[in-house]
Amino acid sequence: MSPLVLGLMSRSLRNRSRGANSESLCHNRCDMSAEKVYLSLGSNIGDREANLRSAIAALSAAELRVTRVSSIYETQPVDFLEQAWFLNCVVQGETELQPLELLGALRGIESRMGSKKEFPKGPRLIDLDILLYGNETLDTPDLQVPHPRMAQRRFVLAPLSEIAPQLHHPAWGGNVVQMLAATLDQSEVRIFE
Ligand code: ADP
Ligand code: MG
Repeated sequence: MSPLVLGLMSRSLRNRSRGANSESLCHNRCDMSAEKVYLSLGSNIGDREANLRSAIAALSAAELRVTRVSSIYETQPVDFLEQAWFLNCVVQGETELQPLELLGALRGIESRMGSKKEFPKGPRLIDLDILLYGNETLDTPDLQVPHPRMAQRRFVLAPLSEIAPQLHHPAWGGNVVQMLAATLDQSEVRIFE
């Protein structure tokens, strides 16, 4: 069988696993079914709140329908401690973008906003991470989903538990409230007034 036919078959199976009747609804555009995704946003340079709000606006223009936004939290840095506190929030959205396309869209927003990462875990004007992409698990050099460090990050789990407390993590084996109760991360996370 040709690679093209195999590719079309696997795409069709993938869309079938995403929801009942997707084929009858999407006709010739079966690759267009929407996936529910959760993203983490963070900023610790400049006007941190404005940066988060600009990024959320940019997401909507980048083929991600934003359906929920958590409160904004002020959070103590983790990993690299000698830097300013962050503002973080979590966004729920729906997108037709495939995971790597979504990652590309996030990188595009980061660079258009002028975010330069001097070094990993260091200060940044805006950082956009994919936490969950439906129930998918992906382990590629460029993208791991669910985000491999989300269980160790109170700054992710606190806002996520606000908008999706019962959300099941496909690999961890529990929901977000249980993950927050189990995390060993003791860093400070508080609602930003
Ligand atoms: P940080 O780990 O500090 O967030 P970056 O935002 O610069 O650092 O991301 C580093 C790399 O992480 C990127 O090159 C990206 O390809 C990779 N990456 C892997 N999985 C994810 C994910 N789920 N969301 C975002 N980036 C990811
Ligand atoms: Mg990142």
